[in-house]
Amino acid sequence: MFKKILIANRGEIACRVAATACRMAIRTVAVYSDADAHAKHVVACDEAVHIGGSAPRESYLQWERIIAAAKATGAEAIHPGYGFLSENEAFAAACAEAGLVFIGPPASAIQAMGLKAESKQLMEKAGVPLVPGYHGHDQDPALLQREADRIGYPVLIKASAGGGGKGMRAVEKSEDFAAALASCQREARNSFGDEAVLVEKYVLRPRHIEIQVFGDAHGNYVWLFERDCSVQRRHQKVLEEAPAPGMTEAMRKRMGEAAVAAARAVDYVGAGTVEFIVEQRGKEMNFFFMEMNTRLQVEHPVTEAITGLDLVEWQLRVAAGQPLPLQQADLRIHGHAIEARICAENPDNNFLPATGSLQVYRKPPHVEFERGPVRIDDGVREGDAISPFYDSMIAKLIVHGATREEALARLDAALAATHIVGLATNVQFLRYVVKSRSFAEADLDTALIQREQAVLFDQQPVGLELAAAAAVAKTLLDEQALAGNDPFSRRDGWRSHGVAGRRFEFDFGGQHQKAELRYLHDGALQLAVNGSAPAPLAFRVGEGCIELQHGERRVRAVVYTTGETDHVFTPQGAAAIVSVDLLAHASEGAAEGGRLTAPMPGKVVSFSVKAGDKVAKGQPLAVMEAMKMEHTIAAPADGTVAELLYAPGDQVAEGAELLKLAA
Ligand code: ADP
Ligand code: ADP
Ligand code: MG
Repeated sequence: MFKKILIANRGEIACRVAATACRMAIRTVAVYSDADAHAKHVVACDEAVHIGGSAPRESYLQWERIIAAAKATGAEAIHPGYGFLSENEAFAAACAEAGLVFIGPPASAIQAMGLKAESKQLMEKAGVPLVPGYHGHDQDPALLQREADRIGYPVLIKASAGGGGKGMRAVEKSEDFAAALASCQREARNSFGDEAVLVEKYVLRPRHIEIQVFGDAHGNYVWLFERDCSVQRRHQKVLEEAPAPGMTEAMRKRMGEAAVAAARAVDYVGAGTVEFIVEQRGKEMNFFFMEMNTRLQVEHPVTEAITGLDLVEWQLRVAAGQPLPLQQADLRIHGHAIEARICAENPDNNFLPATGSLQVYRKPPHVEFERGPVRIDDGVREGDAISPFYDSMIAKLIVHGATREEALARLDAALAATHIVGLATNVQFLRYVVKSRSFAEADLDTALIQREQAVLFDQQPVGLELAAAAAVAKTLLDEQALAGNDPFSRRDGWRSHGVAGRRFEFDFGGQHQKAELRYLHDGALQLAVNGSAPAPLAFRVGEGCIELQHGERRVRAVVYTTGETDHVFTPQGAAAIVSVDLLAHASEGAAEGGRLTAPMPGKVVSFSVKAGDKVAKGQPLAVMEAMKMEHTIAAPADGTVAELLYAPGDQVAEGAELLKLAA
């Protein structure tokens, strides 16, 4: 076995690989960018080497520097994690040339599976079922149109070099094909430097079911069951689970054997995932090969949870030349596991990624990177920043239960105990998805989020009354802690007809709200929110929370105060409520400027207007790409475009003015 490995990645996957290496008494070398100088993965490894600037192309994609760091520290092998260099055949080959073991498949297998069209030609020969479609070399638009007409609509145009859910266009009818093809080719050229596409049948209400496979250098292969990753937004995974609900033994075996055939066809070695798109016809499922990801997948922990195995340990053993630790007949499924990707993003604003610092980051009780009922894989600590340089995933929460119901209940409880303050996250959104009828009943397909949108977006889990009661309780408790219990020490206390009182004002959900607290003779409290009848308020400090009662409602709330804002977490969900200081002058709401600036560093994709155009409020003006997503920049008011300040393809800094708008 290796004595020392270098981990050519960052974040949760770097920490996760380090945890297994540590358990196996293998020493680890981290690499890091400027932005990651104090990152968790640097601390998690035995040594660390600085490899450059914050942008991935200046550090995590600088493979000469990474190989030099491995040589300089005496590492024998490189684990690439996922993303970055993990599916780069030139990097895999360069490692071998430098006498280092690349912990992954041979460069030839990465190359064979690298392009979707070419890999489909290979799979066709290997007898793996494919979605009906065209994946040939000839890219003549007229030919592609004829093929689409032959396949029958709807069809999906895919960039052959695509990944991460990008470079795909669904086409409903023949007349729309040419325009969709042109726009798909444009995106493919810009994002992947290769405009080749394939055309395939668009499967309606499909499921995404993938098979984890493993091969060793001695020609042995196993499949480690399936994962259902149907819950997606923008063709990207949100929740993943194993086993796939409704999967029969016979179907599992057919899919497993097809996946192994795919791996065998390219002499695969190590961990890989064969992704299938599954068409459901009542109880029957038809599966078709989509692509093979030649690396460890983000969602591998659900497979670890149901098999009791450590897949990184398997990767290390296989890379060191050992045979697979188990054979197919030894493998069993235990219980059910679900993973939720916790991301810095705003689901209510089209999943716009968010940046900022994790002012509060409290996790449910768990054992990190260990198999157990609740597991968290992350690469950040409280106080760390989610920067615009890398993707927006904060953590993965993985739960295991004897049954799917148990796993679901555990996931909801664990999400409720995940408290993040400082930036927008999808935690509450994930809870709604988990509780939605479709997910609860395992009615899974890639349109689930769209179908359930009425119960997923723009919800308010904590109402004004409860939020105000929690904020008042927190204020009083903080004051007691500071100055002893003196309700009259505050400057805005009042007293009339023997009843003492105090006024509070809040901003809640963008609206100004008032609350009145009354101190009764017997020391009891009443709170009236926004003119409603006063209701008894009682609270005391519980274990890590405030036990709160307002009127008929009793709740355990955890409240974090940052500046004037109280962030209230309850079992039902979270809310933020802002205290407005009564004596401070009402701030003049800063007037919305006419500046149109980049919300984060990124690349300008396109402008939909030119200088001189009249635009209406809300009209899309430009598209930017950052954090692996596209963002539309809309007009804040009616006006005329005075000037475009950048051209498509330009890289811009956060806050850069993209265009000038005149009133
Ligand atoms: P998966 O099917 O495993 O989710 P993706 O294509 O979505 O595969 O990418 C895998 C992961 O790789 C992403 O979730 C992300 O964390 C990471 N990743 C990919 N590209 C980048 C990048 N340019 N910068 C940072 N992380 C990246
Ligand atoms: P990527 O490399 O971006 O992961 P994939 O080919 O794996 O691209 O497809 C990503 C997602 O797009 C799938 O998980 C599925 O939701 C959807 N998808 C892909 N192919 C089809 C298809 N033929 N019909 C319907 N949806 C599809
Ligand atoms: Mg995919």
